[in-house]
Amino acid sequence: MGEENKVNKKIKKRKIKYVLYLHHGEPVWVRADQKGLHWDACLCYSCKKFKPNDKDNCPIAQKVYDLNVANDITTPVWECPVFADIELKH
Ligand code: SF4
Repeated sequence: MGEENKVNKKIKKRKIKYVLYLHHGEPVWVRADQKGLHWDACLCYSCKKFKPNDKDNCPIAQKVYDLNVANDITTPVWECPVFADIELKH
């Protein structure tokens, strides 16, 4: 059995649906049940070090962003050793 058939069999078994949609003008695949949820999952959106489009942006977040742009992927940060909760600012 080819590798593609093995993967397709696993997907069918898990009953996960995938959809193709345009993200920033590029067609990308995503799990149907997780489409648009990366904001909820990503620690960066709750971190005071996250400053998109700013020269003081977190260097880790910037690397992740650059990787995403270069490859048309979306990569939420699930875990981070230097996360700084935005609530700590007060
Ligand atoms: S410190 Fe971690 S959680 Fe905060 S912006 Fe950087 S990568 Fe994201």
